[in-house]
Order: sequence, then structure tokens, then C-alpha cells
Amino acid sequence: MNHAVGTWEERWHPLRQEWVVIAAHRQHRPWVGQTVTAQVPDVPVYDPTCYLCPGNARISGAANPAYTGVFVFDNDHPCVGPLAPEPIAPGSPYKTRRADGIARVICFSPVHRMTLAELSPEHIQHVVAAWQQQTFDLGALAQVNHVLCFENKGAVVGVSNPHPHGQVYATNFVFKTVETALGAMQQYERSEGRALMADIIKAEQKDARRILYEDAYTIAFVPYFARYAYEVYIVPKRQVAHLYALNDAESASLAGAIKAVTVRYDNLWQQSFPYVMPLHQAPTDGSEYADFHAYITFHPPLRQPALLKYLAGPEIGGGNFLNDTSPEASAQALRAVDARHYLTVGGTS
Ligand SMILES: [Zn+2]
Repeated sequence: MNHAVGTWEERWHPLRQEWVVIAAHRQHRPWVGQTVTAQVPDVPVYDPTCYLCPGNARISGAANPAYTGVFVFDNDHPCVGPLAPEPIAPGSPYKTRRADGIARVICFSPVHRMTLAELSPEHIQHVVAAWQQQTFDLGALAQVNHVLCFENKGAVVGVSNPHPHGQVYATNFVFKTVETALGAMQQYERSEGRALMADIIKAEQKDARRILYEDAYTIAFVPYFARYAYEVYIVPKRQVAHLYALNDAESASLAGAIKAVTVRYDNLWQQSFPYVMPLHQAPTDGSEYADFHAYITFHPPLRQPALLKYLAGPEIGGGNFLNDTSPEASAQALRAVDARHYLTVGGTS
């Protein structure tokens, strides 16, 4: 059996410090399990029962203002918060502490049926500005050691409400992904005398097959070491530990890159493309993190139009990912689609 080079091999993930098994040669193996159907975009612009729409009452009793842009509020069901109870010490080897922190929700748009991909780059700049402001404000609090901003999009990642929104978890601990990436960046700097993310950018530019977007300030690519089919990294070219350190031109460029990537996602299968999108920013525990290079990642759960990537034995049991898609083929597919959103082609934008 002949297999093309690059479709069946192990690749080192330099930011997670782990191997990824690329097994694209088995992409078309027989499948008799569950499939998911694409959401039909039959969503109203306003939903009177939606707790995120302007003017509506939320579970806490508070009412949303008649907001017109981006709207941020404290999560009514916080995973961490000032009202978390004092825990009871469990005794060795177990440890506990209070679930202190702040959880917020960011509504990207007042329009219930809108998605990030359909917003204008100028509007996405307001979303970027909200991430920057929240990170700066919450990161300055003494009890907050890390601010995780993210968007979970789509029913297949557990979000039943289509209203475009993301979340902010400002926690007293540093999330594992950032802790690992920080360690990897510091170790690389020590051993190679160069910055890891700068070298990743150079490697992607040199290969060039996986780049989806690039301008003077930002680059977006399917990484060589992708764990998910259609995984994408968006990286500011200048090293900043937190996205609020970007200047106006860099922030606008970042918004443009987000627009470009999410439009290609939706166009790939002409459906609203589900994903988990976290921002990776340095801890806010008071130390300087001059080595940390902030970036954004997209982790889509679908590997084919109606086929979910299940996390199973290798991922949950072993802790390493098996990717059934070649990153080069994924990038090629995303590069091949129209750069204009399929719902607006022929329209005004
Ligand atoms: Zn809504």
C-alpha cells in the first residue's frame, strides 16, 4: 500500500510539548456511527425568549440594555465568582480552595441570528476591543491570575443558543494550555536563543501551503502540528503577552484575520461552522511574561460536513491527539473557497 508522505506520520506540537499522530490515510474508513446534520439558518433577528437579546430579562432578574454594539455582563451562572462558598479541607492527598474569580459573557452583536463570520471587520474590532478591555480590567484584580476569553460556537460543542457570544473566565489559577505553552516558549528561548512563536511563523511562511491569511501585522494558518481537522492559529506577528498591548493597526488587522478565517470556515461546507475558539494570553499574576506570545486558536469538532471528531482512547485515554486529516489538505480546502461569505455573495458586502 502506498501512502503519500505527510498523510501518515507523527508531528511534534511545540506549544503543547506532545506528539500528534497524523493518520489521514484512514480518513475514508467505513463509518456507521452518529452523524450530525448541519443547522439550517432559520433563526430570527430577535428572539423574545433569548437571555442575550437587547431589552430581554435574564434569569438573575436583570434586564439587558437596548445595546447596539458589543455588550458585556456578569455571567448569571458563573463557574467562578465572589459568591463561591468556602470549601471544607478534604485531607491529604486531596486539596481544595474557593472557586474565586469572575465569569462574564460578551454579546458580539445585538442581532440574534448574526455570527462572527457575518459581522464586518469593523464590528469585529469592537469584539477584539472587548477582549482587550476585559483582559486588562480583570487581569488587574488581585485574585485573578489568568483571563481566558473564548467562544464556543454551535450545538455540537454544546451551545444551543445561536445568539453570537463569547465568555470570559477570570480565574485564580492559570489554565493548563497557557501554562504549558508558556513553559515551552521559555524553554525554547533558553535552548535555542530564539522565540518559539517567531520560529513557528517563519516555518509556516517558508512552507506557505497552510497559510490562510497574512498582512503586515497578523498571520493565520492551519498549523503543521494541527490536532483537529481544520484547526487554525491566528497570531499577531509582533510578540505581545496580552492582546491589549496591540496597537490600533494591529488590532484592526487581527479583526480582519478573524473575519477571513471564519468566512472560509462557513464557506467550506456552506454551513455555520462550529468551533471552540480560545485566546491564549499570558497569566495576570503580577509577573512579567516577556517570553509569552499571545495567539488565538480555532478548534472545530467536525472533520467532515456531518462527521464529528470524537475524543476517545488516544485523546482522553492517552492524552495525545490522532488527526485523521492532513493539515496541508485541510489548508488547501480552506484556501480554495471564496473569501466572501456565502450568505452575502451577490449581496452588498
Ligand atoms: Zn438573542
